[in-house]
Amino acid sequence: MSQVLTTTDLEGALPLIARGKVRDLYEVNDKTLLFIATDRISAYDVIMENGIPSKGVLLTLCTRTWFKILTDALPSLRTHFITLDLPPQIPESLRPTLQNRSMQVRKLKIFPIEAIVRGYITGSAWKEYQKSGTVHGIKVAAGLQESQEFPDGPIYTPSTKAELGDHDENIHPDQAAKIVGERYASKIESLALALYKTAHAYALSRGLIIADTKFEFGHDEETDEIVLVDEVLTPDSSRFWPASSYQVGRGQDSFDKQFLRDWLVKEGLKGKEGVRMPEEVVKKTEEKYREAWEKITGGQ
Ligand code: ATP
Ligand code: MG
Repeated sequence: MSQVLTTTDLEGALPLIARGKVRDLYEVNDKTLLFIATDRISAYDVIMENGIPSKGVLLTLCTRTWFKILTDALPSLRTHFITLDLPPQIPESLRPTLQNRSMQVRKLKIFPIEAIVRGYITGSAWKEYQKSGTVHGIKVAAGLQESQEFPDGPIYTPSTKAELGDHDENIHPDQAAKIVGERYASKIESLALALYKTAHAYALSRGLIIADTKFEFGHDEETDEIVLVDEVLTPDSSRFWPASSYQVGRGQDSFDKQFLRDWLVKEGLKGKEGVRMPEEVVKKTEEKYREAWEKITGGQ
């Protein structure tokens, strides 16, 4: 089994800025961050005690590939990606562990919303729709079935970006506009929709449906540009469904954490801290992440 990295220790080579649920962020200089994806996994907003082997590498390589695909398709797109190369401050002894799970990225001020785009009705959107006929307060077509593609095209359904330990909250785009300011809100919305459409078409040609996904954006204060940041279109930030078994009117098999979530619910461990996943759950989950990575990148 490959090495599992659940936390990083750069032995003082760079200052630690933040630890998210999955990533550890270090400062390379005042403009650049080292963005390291560990093998941590969270479900229902709780981080598991043990990790998923190779997960951080798979997420990093997926993101890097998507940045290439998206900038080729949308040449005006700006991303935070600089290089997969490690900065010179990292000592030789740490390089093998950090290689391919780290990106140097531009350090930016992050707009405090999650720019979610949904092409298909599922998850919390399906629950809300069944109750009220709306999705994030937006009125959508009547008579939709579970997992159906939105007939009028994908919709922008932002959420708040909660502090570590809190839950993100679904909000109406009007409320997102209040949070980020009118000036940026419509740009973020149209950019998120364009990114989703491009990615959806690409993934479909490789047998994957992107049911929904979450983007984050930063602000380049020097140029006033909106920049695509964070991880993109990974199994952590998206729902991927195999196109071959897709069927409207029921939940779908997904490449994401469904196996882990189902196990947590079955064992009565949903939302509990300090849970250690058994080998079988680790293996199945690793397989799903690897399968998604292979489908998207062709294994590179
Ligand atoms: P959080 O812990 O912030 O609630 P998370 O658990 O999803 O979110 P991770 O994915 O583990 O966090 O870590 C990524 C963090 O880095 C996110 O908070 C994200 O907003 C932030 N981030 C991503 N790209 C950049 C960037 N270019 N500059 C500054 N911060 C960034
Ligand atoms: Mg994240």
